[in-house]
Amino acid sequence: MTTIHQEDFIESIRNALQYISYYHPMDFVHAMHQAYLKEQSPAARDAIAQILINSRLCAEGHRPICQDTGIVTVFLEIGMDVRWDSQQSVEDMVNEAVSRAYRDPDNPLRASIVADPAGTRGNTRDNTPAVIHMKMVAGDRVSITVAAKGAGSENKSRFTNLNPSDELVEWVVDQVPGMGAGWCPPGILGIGIGGTAEKAMLLAKQSLMAPIDIQALRQRGPASRAEQLRLEIHDRVNALGIGAQGLGGLTTVLDVKVLDYPTHAASLPVAIVPNCAATRHVHLELDGSGPVFPEPPALSEWPEVHWEAAGRSRKVNLDELDAAAVRDWQPGESLLLSGHLLTGRDAAHKRIVDSLSKGEALPEGLDFRNRMIYYVGPVDPVNSEAVGPAGPTTATRMDKFTDVLLDKTGLIGMIGKAERGAKAIDSIKKHQTVYLIATGGAAYLISKAVHSARVIAYPELGMEAVYEFEVRDMPVTVAVDSHGESVHRTGPAIWKQHIAGIAVTTE
Ligand code: SF4
Repeated sequence: MTTIHQEDFIESIRNALQYISYYHPMDFVHAMHQAYLKEQSPAARDAIAQILINSRLCAEGHRPICQDTGIVTVFLEIGMDVRWDSQQSVEDMVNEAVSRAYRDPDNPLRASIVADPAGTRGNTRDNTPAVIHMKMVAGDRVSITVAAKGAGSENKSRFTNLNPSDELVEWVVDQVPGMGAGWCPPGILGIGIGGTAEKAMLLAKQSLMAPIDIQALRQRGPASRAEQLRLEIHDRVNALGIGAQGLGGLTTVLDVKVLDYPTHAASLPVAIVPNCAATRHVHLELDGSGPVFPEPPALSEWPEVHWEAAGRSRKVNLDELDAAAVRDWQPGESLLLSGHLLTGRDAAHKRIVDSLSKGEALPEGLDFRNRMIYYVGPVDPVNSEAVGPAGPTTATRMDKFTDVLLDKTGLIGMIGKAERGAKAIDSIKKHQTVYLIATGGAAYLISKAVHSARVIAYPELGMEAVYEFEVRDMPVTVAVDSHGESVHRTGPAIWKQHIAGIAVTTE
């Protein structure tokens, strides 16, 4: 019989959450580096370079890989011979660990969890509760897998119940273009097959906790139908040409994981859960001898990567920008932005559009004329930081507000991540404005370009308040130009043809 003490359990999980906020798993870093070395699409290569540079900076600085520090998922396997020395339930102990980790004064993590999700959506302030899965197993150990998952990738999860005779691979491959770039590829697809609807979803999530090993599998050859599926789906998805950040390129997925389970003779449940550029998980095992802390990786394990786009990027002074200047920018062009821009995401957009539709004035100082807006909800700063990690959030969520903002405020550009929907692109074209993307999963690197930040409006919205940032050389790419041409449409189309060995046309 092993005794697990309350504080050992809580501190192990607390520490694991801090650890995964700034250390990518090394198998992920190595796989991303391999993708970087073989990538031929300049835009995708630039994005992967930023992800790798960001990864190293976070490991060095102990600051979050992404501004979305995720919803915590914990998988527990509790030995039948374990005894607990605790006044709290296992769930309460896990949530205590989450609360301590996310409120750590040296590396505060963003609290993103809201209660009453279909109602008031009030922030719980300490990122609790976690999603906890427990299983009783033989033995006297407690095995803990801790993960933190950003909403951008979680929101792209898919589920279906196929007919047993349907083509499973076709269904999976058909889903991926519709997932867009909001899940910040390159990443990993977790596929759960069988069981019931909820079992398939759980298997898909659980499959993502295993290390990346698709190349080893390719070399040794598949030993089961599940392993065959991994290779088939990996090759078919990468042949889509979606690439890093959806810009078109050779690597969309670094690995495909499959877990399966027996199912009903009349069913074939299939779930997809993607994992993103901020893949975060670690495994611990408690044996009763005290808290367990994972070994920090050596910084020398990170590859030397240079961001080659710096030399060929157009320098833009945001403080001298006007509507005519942005019409000159080309789709796919790299820019380095300096000067002042405004921020705002879901809640601020809703407030602004509500005020405008009622004919009310915007808060004093909130003037969008000849300005860019950056869709971001940053992590709180520490020490001398102007702002904590501050990467872009998914722009499609702002699509429904875009026409009103462009029509009524004098805004000339937006910065976010992933593609825009058809209506937003029409509006961008109609107003001859632009949409730029920053690299999702490069949040700490991007925050280094922010030299000052002050709240302009809606301070009560916390990380969703409107700030004014002063940036220097903030790297972005033109994703939709003033004619409405979108690199998320042309890039994957070009690279799909390229991968298939078909002569590339831009038509
Ligand atoms: S890398 Fe992208 S999808 Fe992942 S947590 Fe960050 S913003 Fe969200």
